[in-house]
Amino acid sequence: MKKLEQLYEGKAKKVFKTDDENLYIVDYKDDATAFNGEKKGTIAGKGVINNIMSNHMFQLLEKQGVPTHFVEQLSERETVVKKVSIVPLEVIIRNISAGSFAKRYGVNEGIVFDQPTIEFSYKNDDLGDPLINDYHAMALKLATADEIETIKKMAFKVNEVMKAYFDTLNVTLVDFKLEFGKTAQGTIILADEISPDTCRLWDKDTGEKLDKDRFRRDLGNVEEAYQEILRRLTGK
Ligand code: ADP
Ligand code: UDP
Repeated sequence: MKKLEQLYEGKAKKVFKTDDENLYIVDYKDDATAFNGEKKGTIAGKGVINNIMSNHMFQLLEKQGVPTHFVEQLSERETVVKKVSIVPLEVIIRNISAGSFAKRYGVNEGIVFDQPTIEFSYKNDDLGDPLINDYHAMALKLATADEIETIKKMAFKVNEVMKAYFDTLNVTLVDFKLEFGKTAQGTIILADEISPDTCRLWDKDTGEKLDKDRFRRDLGNVEEAYQEILRRLTGK
C-alpha cells in the first residue's frame, strides 16, 4: 500500500490517496477545535488514541453486522479506509440530554431519555453545520429517502452496540456523531471516526466527563481523560 498525495486536511485528520483507487489513508492529528473552529488547541496524543479507538469500535461494529470503512491500521496515527463519498450529514444520536440539545430546548444536562433520539446537521462549515430534517436533506439532494432510512437504521444499531459495550467499561454513552459514506457501488457504510472527539462519555459511577467536553469547557485533565478511555477499551 503506497501513500500518495494529500487530498484534504481537516480539523482533526488528513486524508491521502493511495495506489489503490478504492482506498484512502487517514492520518489522525492532535489538533482540537470546538465551536465551529472558534476555539483551537492541541491535545497531546489525541491522534494516536482516536485512531486506535475508532478502529477498535469499527471492528466491534463489523462483528455486529454494521458495515464500516475500516480496512487496516498502518501505524499509530494512520489507517487504510475504503474511499467513500461522504453523505454531508452529521448524524447525532442522543441517549441523555447534553450540549446543544440542552441549550436549544432549555433543559438540564443528564436527563435520561425513554428512547434514543436522532437528528441531522448539514455538514457545511460556512453555514455552521445547521440542524436539518429529512425533508430538507432530500430537497437539497444530500441523500435519497432510501439512503436516509438506511442511515437511521444503522445509526440506531450502532447506538445499541456501543451503549452495551461502553456499559461493560463502566462508561455511559450520552451522545455521539456519526458520518456515513457511499462506496463506488452505491452502498452506504459507516465512515469517519468514533472517538472522545465525537462521543460524550461519562464515568458510570462518578459522572466524570471522559471526552472532548473537557477541552470545550476548559475542565482540565483533557489528555488524561482520553488516556482513561483508551485504557478501558484496550487495557493499555
Ligand atoms: P473536518 O472535515 O470536519 O475538519 P476531519 O479533520 O476529521 O474533519 O477530516 C476528515 C475528512 O475526511 C472529513 O471531511 C470526513 O468526512 C472525511 N472522511 C472520513 N472518512 C472518509 C472516507 N472513508 N472516505 C472519504 N472521506 C472520508
Ligand atoms: N459532535 C461532533 N462533531 C460536531 C458536532 C457534534 O462530533 O461537529 C458530537 C459531540 O461530540 C457530541 C454529539 O455530537 O458527542 C452531540 O453534540 P451537540 O449537538 O451537543 O453539539 P456540541 O454543542 O457539543 O458541539
